[in-house]
Amino acid sequence: MFRISKYSSVKGISYLSGEYVPVKDYHCHHIIMQDNGGSHDFDNLCVLSETEHIILHSSTPERLYELFPKRKKRIKYLIEQLKANGKYALNSLSKGFQGMKALTN
Ligand SMILES: [Zn+2]
Repeated sequence: MFRISKYSSVKGISYLSGEYVPVKDYHCHHIIMQDNGGSHDFDNLCVLSETEHIILHSSTPERLYELFPKRKKRIKYLIEQLKANGKYALNSLSKGFQGMKALTN
């Protein structure tokens, strides 16, 4: 499983906070959505905590800038990709959740 190996490869460290995310809170974000040809490749996945992931897919992902001022570049990149994918709204997350449930269960 790529998702698990991604988690191990970054030692469970969140792409945004730089802090350890326990497996139960671990979310795997597809930087480029699968619907847009994004793959399960390593480079297209990043580890986030559940909270970070929810904010990223909310209508106000810019809140992440305040939470992680040191990660502006990364946040900008993630938000730009989401906008480019036209998947800026919450509904894209429910889909992601299904995949993540499969992962954590
Ligand atoms: Zn995501």
